[in-house]
Amino acid sequence: MPSLTFLGAAGTVTGSKHLLDLGSRRVLVDCGLFQGLKDLRLRNWSPFPIEASAIDTIVLTHAHLDHCGYLPRLVAQGFRGRVFCTPGTQDLCSLVLPDSAHLQEEEARDANRHGYAKHQPALPLYTSEDAALALTLLQPVGFNRPVPVAAGVEVEFLSAGHLLGSAYARVRLPDGRPILFGGDLGRYGRPVLPDPSPVDSADVLLVESTYGDRLHPPDDGGARLAAVINDTAARGGKLIIPAFALGRVEEVLYWLKHLEDAKRVPVLPVFVDSPMAARALQFYASRADELDVDVRPAARGVSAFATRRLTVVASPQQSKELVASRQPSIVIASSGMATGGRVIHHLEATLPGSKNTVLFVGFQAEGTRGRTLVDGIKQVRIKGRDVPVAARIERLDSMSAHADAAEIMRWLSLFSRPPSMTYLVHGESVALEALRARVQSELQWPVHVARYQERVEL
Ligand SMILES: [Zn+2]
Repeated sequence: MPSLTFLGAAGTVTGSKHLLDLGSRRVLVDCGLFQGLKDLRLRNWSPFPIEASAIDTIVLTHAHLDHCGYLPRLVAQGFRGRVFCTPGTQDLCSLVLPDSAHLQEEEARDANRHGYAKHQPALPLYTSEDAALALTLLQPVGFNRPVPVAAGVEVEFLSAGHLLGSAYARVRLPDGRPILFGGDLGRYGRPVLPDPSPVDSADVLLVESTYGDRLHPPDDGGARLAAVINDTAARGGKLIIPAFALGRVEEVLYWLKHLEDAKRVPVLPVFVDSPMAARALQFYASRADELDVDVRPAARGVSAFATRRLTVVASPQQSKELVASRQPSIVIASSGMATGGRVIHHLEATLPGSKNTVLFVGFQAEGTRGRTLVDGIKQVRIKGRDVPVAARIERLDSMSAHADAAEIMRWLSLFSRPPSMTYLVHGESVALEALRARVQSELQWPVHVARYQERVEL
């Protein structure tokens, strides 16, 4: 009997890993890193429940680290099979995996240097060499093209509208039954990315629940963003926007340009202080035909994202100068949950100043610095010291890349018949329970909230 084991993103939003065990073959769908709470991050270090070499094939739904960032770790432990993903995911993995390895190495080095390592010496979760080897295993496959990935098992990628290259993975078992791994579900009617593609049916469905208990604020045409910018400009401060280097930067730039063009905000210097975001922008431009129709003609040549005084910060030296500068400006830097990356230096410099604003535009997971800031903490620990928070902290959930509860229900309602079982994954407990109740009462589908390391028969 084929089985499915939830090895991550069960009861939490990170660490997506779903192991399909077909007896003689094992396929791992998504290979994500746990992030956020320390207990979760420690799971990245625990022994993987099965030998890495016992996994035949890996399938990736998209290139966010919580879906692909564990891959180099499995490679370090001996996984050598093929990793199927879309070409867009391959592009973005070529940015995020080496970057993640670099951060892991840096963190270990810092911990050793400053003596705050619990273990001596601190080691990286994986190295740049592991990440480079992982990239050689990627096997790009276009959308809507079923391909064999292991004996008798096929996978087909369907566009999910959540990130460039993002997909649901429809895995067909040897007996012909389709299992739909929903990955992360995008949103309807947003700029930059297309709507999530409709799915007619699946025997078993896994669906994310990040915003299962919430509705995003209705689209306000950029009004809130304009208010935050104008307010910060009036105070003569800096606006720091922590943003996931992949996906969010594009949407933030799209809106900044839109507001500038409509003269609803002053033309300010805009800095993208993330080499990865800059390269991702190029990939978005080169795959414009996969983007929302609204930005397609403009995206060729990146102009859909180019505000008038846009600077892509290249060198660490330039970044340092920008951190030190008091000039009113808008700085977009990663990481989006302020757990690492160049945004840390910007936060350290701007949080103590009451003229400044920090604007969060994505989901802030439990245990992250971003979450503590949006929850109103008055002092935050950065690089081992306490930094007072005097800057205004704002959040803008409308720019989320994840479907909200209504959008998830809309997508589910397009199924022509109910799956024999729907598993809710990728959510925190309140969101999971709220969505479970809705699926049960509104659709009357069999539905179950997946538990960490739970194994179910298919
Ligand atoms: Zn994602």
